[in-house]
Amino acid sequence: RAKDAGKNRYHLFDPELDLEVQARRSKLKNIEKALRNDEFILYYQPKVNLVSGKVIGAEALIRWQHPVKGILPPAAFLDLIDGHDLEIDIGEWVIESVIKQIVKWNKAGLFFQVSANLSANHLLKEGFSERLREMLNRYPAVRHEDLELEILETSTLNDLDQANNVLAQCRNMGVRFALDDFGTGYSSLTYFQRLPVDILKIDQSFVRDMLDDPNDLDIVESILRLAQTFNRPVIAEGVETLELGAMLVQLGCQQAQGYGIARPMPAESIPSWTSQWQETKPWLAISKPVGK
Ligand code: C2E
Ligand code: MG
Ligand code: MG
Ligand code: MG
Repeated sequence: RAKDAGKNRYHLFDPELDLEVQARRSKLKNIEKALRNDEFILYYQPKVNLVSGKVIGAEALIRWQHPVKGILPPAAFLDLIDGHDLEIDIGEWVIESVIKQIVKWNKAGLFFQVSANLSANHLLKEGFSERLREMLNRYPAVRHEDLELEILETSTLNDLDQANNVLAQCRNMGVRFALDDFGTGYSSLTYFQRLPVDILKIDQSFVRDMLDDPNDLDIVESILRLAQTFNRPVIAEGVETLELGAMLVQLGCQQAQGYGIARPMPAESIPSWTSQWQETKPWLAISKPVGK
């Protein structure tokens, strides 16, 4: 009978592999359910200019507010959805949530850039720029320049021509792009040269240890020189201390983001954080040159 034949064929598979596939499938189902149940939230981490003190923007970072496990970081679920339709669904949720957040902050008198992380699969998905345009059209009050998309230099972004087309279409609408984790990929220079991005984000792994590790400092300095030569703005991530901030300013990098400035926080906390930052002026301590 057909059923038996199916059963026999089934046994050709490695049962352990099959368990893995099933576990993966059930995890994906849970993530899908979480999206439906509105369990994803965005935290926001401020980005500042360490010389002017200006809060230049905030980056949206996804969290899963799990009913049992508590708040889960992206590392706990993003890999699982890689390459699935769910990756696009969650990505669209993230972008729309960021746009809505911009509307809310604008109403509260806060105007700055808000960035969303965008997966390469999502960027390269057929019709991305059209869907982005439709989404922006639904929120006519939002200045397109205030939406920034952070993309990673990864192997999944291998279709550079296609990426370039999509970037150009989105940039024509005024949307900005950042090249995230710059310096970590195998072909950073290719991406730097070929992708029309508005800003480079120096990866936190180089920034964090640059006071102790001369190699990291070299890399940060090289990236800053490169950026300066080609007149590209730069922001440093992973600025964990004011001392690091001071060093970056000395090296010519004024834009920064990191735990030393602020940790990612719920959207509701951003306005009070911003006014506190402006009242206490911590950047005045940062921008003083450090002795050498
Ligand atoms: P990323 O975009 O490079 O974001 C920076 C990560 O470093 C965030 O981790 C942030 O919380 C953390 N971080 C910020 N400042 C510091 C610091 O001073 N020191 C240290 N050690 N870490 C710092 P998080 O939120 O766990 O996100 C990890 C990665 O997950 C992100 O790296 C991004 O690639 C990805 N991700 C986050 N949210 C989204 C999203 O909505 N969509 C997509 N596609 N990816 C996302
Ligand atoms: Mg990012
Ligand atoms: Mg990064
Ligand atoms: Mg990263």
